Amino acid sequence: MKKYNFQTVINVLDGVIPRNTCNIMRDDLIPFYFGGNKVRKAILFFEEVDAKKYDYIVTYGSSTSNHCRVIANLAAKKTIPCLIISPKEVSPESYNRQLVEMFGVKTVTCEISDVKSTIDNTIQKLRNDGYKPYFIPGGGHGILGTKAYFLVYEEIKRYEARHHTFFDYIFLASGTGTTQAGLICGKLVNKDENRKIVGISIARRNPRATEVIKKSILEYLKEVDSDLIEESLLCVDEYICGGYGVYDKKISDLIVDFYCKYGIPLDPIYTGKALWGMIDYCIVNQINSKNILFIHTGGTPLFFDFLQGRYERD
Ligand SMILES: *Cc1c(COP(=O)(O)O)cnc(C)c1O
Repeated sequence: MKKYNFQTVINVLDGVIPRNTCNIMRDDLIPFYFGGNKVRKAILFFEEVDAKKYDYIVTYGSSTSNHCRVIANLAAKKTIPCLIISPKEVSPESYNRQLVEMFGVKTVTCEISDVKSTIDNTIQKLRNDGYKPYFIPGGGHGILGTKAYFLVYEEIKRYEARHHTFFDYIFLASGTGTTQAGLICGKLVNKDENRKIVGISIARRNPRATEVIKKSILEYLKEVDSDLIEESLLCVDEYICGGYGVYDKKISDLIVDFYCKYGIPLDPIYTGKALWGMIDYCIVNQINSKNILFIHTGGTPLFFDFLQGRYERD
């Protein structure tokens, strides 16, 4: 298996969270495809595509989806035809969509309620045409998506060993929840009871946000005690704003301030909400003198959409 060097860096960012040390894991700086968690997931999906000789990629996602952009990019690189199924949207303008078009990938739009049947019909049609299609679930969720961040947990452990440090908390944006599920699997396997992994839900309310993460953990670890999962599972739904892709002035101010001060781009859909959620969570819960790690899950093109004023404001 080809080994990738993701060159993820972890840096201390002074003054982000009052009375705590904040570190940031720059998964947005993976040196290809604009980085982000979707790159880590996609590489595992494409290993399976290669191993089992699939010859057509089908996936699902909105026009702002980093996942679709990365999948389309990898398909173009490997010259495997790719088709993206997207829901009909009000504001489909985005750099991710433009990139998808640049890769020459076909998109099919349908009503949200018809997504499942559209996917099934598309795959059936490709099979009838003699292809061996590979379907990648939206956002790259599924066992391989979970595995990608199970492996990241091991990377974090190695970083801690090398630097004689320990992160008491890990914060990240949670969408489909697979990224968080992978990290929690790592925590459970390593029995790191003293570490908390807090997902900031960017769209789903509880109990659903938490349930889907639990399902992903069970799918990956299979034999793990249900109570143990629940003890380790924390996904907060207080920072969703108006829903997926909707944000308010607090978040846009934070993105601008953060970029000015640290030179690190955030976006209003994922990482902006997650950073705001992390800061507020630590203040509200009076977390003090802890060593905290924020995982920057990527999405750089969305930062530029934000500058274009493309997203909804609450
Ligand atoms: C998709 C995405 C997430 C959410 O990851 P999940 O594994 O779906 O929870 C977070 N941040 C960015 C930038 C993303 O593109």
